[in-house]
Amino acid sequence: MKEAVQINLSKHTPMIQQYLRLKAQHPDILLFYRMGDFYELFYDDAERASQILDISLTKRGFSAGKPIPMAGIPYHVVDNYLAKLIKLGESVAICEQVGDASLNKNPIERKIVRIVTPGTISDESLLQERQDNLIASIFQNKGGRFGFATLDISSGRFLLSEPNNYEIMEAELHRINPTELLYPEDFPTMELINQYHGLRRRPLWEYEIETAYQQFKLQFGMLNLSCFDIENTSLALRAAGCLLQYVKDTQRTSLPHIRSLKLENPQNSIIMNATTRRNLEIIHNLSGGVEKTLAAVLDKTVTPMGSRMLKRWLHMPLRDIETITQRQECIVELQNIIEELQLILRHIGDLERILARLALRTATPRDLARMRYAFQQLPTLNKKLMSINTPRLITLRTQIGDFYELRKILEKAIIESPPILIRDGGFIASGYNIELDELRTLANGVSNYLNILELREQKKLGLETLKIGYNSIYGYYIQVNRTQSHMVPVHYVRRQTLKNVERYIIPELKEYEDKIITSKGKALILEKKIYNELFDLLLPHLEALQLSSTALAELDVLINLAERANTLNYCRPILKKKAGISITSGRHPIVEQVLREPFIPNQLFLSAKHRMLLITGPNMGGKSTYMRQTALIVIMAWIGSFVPAEKAIIGSFDRIFTRIGAADDLASGRSTFMVEMTEIANILHYATENSLVLIDEIGRGTSTYDGLSLAWACAKSLANIIKAITLFATHYFELTILPKTIKRIRNIHFNAVEHKNTIAFMHTVQDGAINKSYGLAVAALAGVPREVIQIAKSKLKELEMIQVHTRIINPEKKIEKSIIRTQQKNQIINTLLKGLDPDTLTPKEALDIIYYIKKII
Ligand code: ADP
Repeated sequence: MKEAVQINLSKHTPMIQQYLRLKAQHPDILLFYRMGDFYELFYDDAERASQILDISLTKRGFSAGKPIPMAGIPYHVVDNYLAKLIKLGESVAICEQVGDASLNKNPIERKIVRIVTPGTISDESLLQERQDNLIASIFQNKGGRFGFATLDISSGRFLLSEPNNYEIMEAELHRINPTELLYPEDFPTMELINQYHGLRRRPLWEYEIETAYQQFKLQFGMLNLSCFDIENTSLALRAAGCLLQYVKDTQRTSLPHIRSLKLENPQNSIIMNATTRRNLEIIHNLSGGVEKTLAAVLDKTVTPMGSRMLKRWLHMPLRDIETITQRQECIVELQNIIEELQLILRHIGDLERILARLALRTATPRDLARMRYAFQQLPTLNKKLMSINTPRLITLRTQIGDFYELRKILEKAIIESPPILIRDGGFIASGYNIELDELRTLANGVSNYLNILELREQKKLGLETLKIGYNSIYGYYIQVNRTQSHMVPVHYVRRQTLKNVERYIIPELKEYEDKIITSKGKALILEKKIYNELFDLLLPHLEALQLSSTALAELDVLINLAERANTLNYCRPILKKKAGISITSGRHPIVEQVLREPFIPNQLFLSAKHRMLLITGPNMGGKSTYMRQTALIVIMAWIGSFVPAEKAIIGSFDRIFTRIGAADDLASGRSTFMVEMTEIANILHYATENSLVLIDEIGRGTSTYDGLSLAWACAKSLANIIKAITLFATHYFELTILPKTIKRIRNIHFNAVEHKNTIAFMHTVQDGAINKSYGLAVAALAGVPREVIQIAKSKLKELEMIQVHTRIINPEKKIEKSIIRTQQKNQIINTLLKGLDPDTLTPKEALDIIYYIKKII
């Protein structure tokens, strides 16, 4: 390509000149250049495409004295190749023949009609049905604050946020998982985004606030930005401006379904970082699949748009009690009519994405037929919802509407089962447009017009033998016996003379002939015009339609949650503003589904007073399950779902953190211990007293005392300084002494019983600590050979003996010492206070004095 461009354009063939001009507009992405039934790629593009797509690389003649490397793709299978490229984060410029082929212009006029990019696709065949596909744009100022904008082109949802630090930004990126991510060319923290596919480096001017205003004005007209604190939201607006510009550039059509911007505050939802989302297996399991995840258990929605909405909810549990309570009320109300409603909703399908294609004018006739089918369901649906009085459901019902007029139009306009493609016509129903019907009749040649004409001419000329016929060379003709040819009027023009007959054409018949020949083409053109007019009829209702589809999706999610609550025996949690959790007979929503034996429910209590549970117990005892189920129940509660428990009171949390067994992060060269410590550092930096923190073992990747000291210090810091609501599982029994000095911490444990050579886990949580790890029994259970277990047993005895003698360096001893020191301090304080007259001191003064004395000693 570089080579080709370097050479003077005039040396190239006219076609290649045209190609190179178009290619110069998009040097970085593949250009699919339409030639008849193929999309062709030339030069570097051809070589790249042949590698990525595994298609053969050939040559197509010469230009500028050199062979032209070429690779081609048949146009009717282009979607398969696009899908592959999109998956790899590649964009493709689609160049079509737009000129009139009959003009014989060389080359025919061509134009880039759209750019297919991973984040802006709306084609059904390229999208995952039950998954959002988002494009995002990021910006960062010198102070380290971010501006972030995301767009779902298949719904028009355009959301902005301003994460105020790296950690929240990272969590946001992970939550959104954009398929395409725009960033300014001077973006300072590339390490934040490097891992994402579909990175697009954009020029700085696209991120200027003026660009944003200009774009908003063009898109939204008089957009009211008063809801934005312009001074403080300029970062998000800048990101959004660039995003909008990019999407318009690539789509090359208006985007009427993007009608507003919404500023989101990550602080209004429970923030979870990438590790937490992964560890809790919310949408994806630890191996990256979708089985055995919270979404897999909870998602039995019957529409793809409902499924996508539920996943958005799961990704973003809220903190607003009012909204969640409304959802809960809906679930209660819907519990009695689940099946009937699901039956109707199932037929509604993916209205949301159809509407996006409608807005982009790429909706297929089949899309419109599906939309019609969706509308046909609405009267019954509305009737079923009529008796419901919950405010949220009444709102949803109103938003769903019934679109009677539009349904009637579609019923009249589109045939029962239309084809997917517009290309070949045949989707507008007969009876919808008289002109089209006529053209079709003509095209089909079934008109009795010829018979009438024949009779009329026979009578007029008095020639009974006069006949109208057709042959492929001369077309239509009127045939008269040669002997009678003198009787034909002057407007009869001779076409052909045969032995016994003369054949004529008259202007009327010629006109008819022209009509037939062109009527097929005309019918097709007219059909496309009518189709476009249908869009014009539907598009003014786009806003109402979008509102309706969102309401339908929400209804689907709520019914689904009602169904799940019934089927899986979940209870309605009570929500509280303060951080804290009280669960009676709680279960793990995923484990209980996959276990063959019954799941043992457990209780849990964490409050302002008791902020940390220190969990001990053998491996396989159920610690992890217990901790994860707690976090999952919290998440479920804050999306509005009922929860797997008999009773649950769930407080509000700003974040959920997890530190659960890590694997080596080989890709970035970090050891297990390093990963673990990075995660801990992150928790200690960002957790607050309103956070829920799960720590499942820390300090195992280093020497025992290093590990123990770290675990000890982390537990203390979390309980005393951060005061987060924490579940802390540990193998270090030494830690179980902490509750003696820190009342916020409680010990709980899981137990097991050994019987002969086997071990049974109780899976029931109990108060207090346990100092038995059953490590050897678990190892035996796992199949470690008996001889090895025997050696381990005698080694264990030996070690236990040594430990008795070296108590002095045992941290437990150190802890005891520190307790003694604290007791001594308190004694001194008491003695000092006794010297003061308590009546003259206010409680605050007394406390201040104690504080200062403590500091001194
Ligand atoms: P630990 O973290 O203590 O090593 P896990 O929580 O990983 O133990 O539990 C090990 C296994 O025990 C789980 O995979 C599950 O099959 C089973 N289990 C855990 N908790 C329960 C429970 N409450 N009821 C029934 N089975 C359980």
